[in-house]
Amino acid sequence: MTDASSLHVELLATGDELLTGQVIDTNSPWLMDRLWDLGVMVRRKVLVGDDREDLAAAMQEASGRSDLVVMSGGLGPTEDDLTAEVVAGAMGVPLEVHEPSLEAIRERFRKLSREMTPNNAKQARFPRGATVIPNRFGTAPGFSVRLGRAELVALPGVPVEYRGLCEEFVLPQVSARTGSAPAFRLVKLFAVPESHADQAMRPVMDDPRNASVRFGYRAHWPEIHVKWSVPDGGEAHADRILAQVRSIFGDAIFAEGKDELAPLVVAALARRRERVALAESCTGGLVAEMLTRVPGSSDVFGLGVVAYANEAKSGLVGVPPELLAAHGAVSEPVARALAEGIRGAGKATWGIGITGIAGPSGGTPEKPVGTVFVALAGPGGTEVVHRVWRGDRDRVRKTTAYEALDMLRRATRG
Ligand code: ATP
Ligand code: MG
Repeated sequence: MTDASSLHVELLATGDELLTGQVIDTNSPWLMDRLWDLGVMVRRKVLVGDDREDLAAAMQEASGRSDLVVMSGGLGPTEDDLTAEVVAGAMGVPLEVHEPSLEAIRERFRKLSREMTPNNAKQARFPRGATVIPNRFGTAPGFSVRLGRAELVALPGVPVEYRGLCEEFVLPQVSARTGSAPAFRLVKLFAVPESHADQAMRPVMDDPRNASVRFGYRAHWPEIHVKWSVPDGGEAHADRILAQVRSIFGDAIFAEGKDELAPLVVAALARRRERVALAESCTGGLVAEMLTRVPGSSDVFGLGVVAYANEAKSGLVGVPPELLAAHGAVSEPVARALAEGIRGAGKATWGIGITGIAGPSGGTPEKPVGTVFVALAGPGGTEVVHRVWRGDRDRVRKTTAYEALDMLRRATRG
């Protein structure tokens, strides 16, 4: 049994495409994140091209100092797929055909009614002595060997295959090696800059009782995730921290653990047997998109319009033209009228109205780019928030869509 924090893990991703900028290595960050949940922080990650010498050197180096090396890529049927060959070379053993894998590959081609070319058989050749890792997500099996002081696991580069085999093979093995899993908690904050989150978390992180706890952040603007893991299954300890974190961030926490904003909102509306209607201008349907991604959203959502032009705002949603003329389309009264108008048109419990200037042009000194008004009309009246978000068009639109759903979340919880 090895303590999770002392298990030395390195990742090695291969493929020329990773070094030409055509493909971004998403496999490694994904595994790093999953390992972090198990209390293991990856010590190093290396990218190498499809080159025998570079691959051999990187492999030897990593295997010389790691307990576990996880490789990604280079298991395909083509000339430039070198992983098995280079591993065999490093071990000083030949490649051998693994009959069950060859049969599985043949079977796969039969099922897909595709012709199997001779180079596909290459994917059934492994270094002698390797443990073959069957791949039910694709063609090329992975394998694992001992090399140097490490166990070296080679997996296909295709992300669904890589992830599938990590879930089935690598992660369970790491858990088994490190013994009891750490207790893990995560909260999701809306639009809190990471630096603020860090500042606010300082008292918790600097608390000597939390010295063994590992804290981390992940930013997917406008979501900021704050997470922590307590070694050796310290569930009660992890919950004590959760109580502290809740009291620090309060309502800025929109979800915990695996929960996500739109599904939470849909579930809350469904529980209350309520519906929402949307009149979106600057978000162009993003809120509708977020809602309709959630299975079952038809129970709570029936009408959403993108009212971009003034004529659409007045003609379709009933915003009085005088209001538009007096305050401009991007204004509190117009957001309010959009929300109330669509609430009536949709015969919904809640109406959301959104108007803003996403940029890059269209800003004025009084209403700079990033100015948005989001209104939520409901049984108790209408609430409007006014913000000036920084960032480019995408960021303003996305943050605004989140804000609208977050207002609805707050209004419908409990
Ligand atoms: P295959 O049997 O499909 O050829 P392979 O093990 O040879 O698998 P690669 O040829 O290296 O894998 O990659 C297959 C595809 O998977 C690449 O075209 C690329 O789009 C994607 N891919 C490879 N490595 C990564 C990575 N590290 N992160 C994200 N995507 C990757
Ligand atoms: Mg390949």
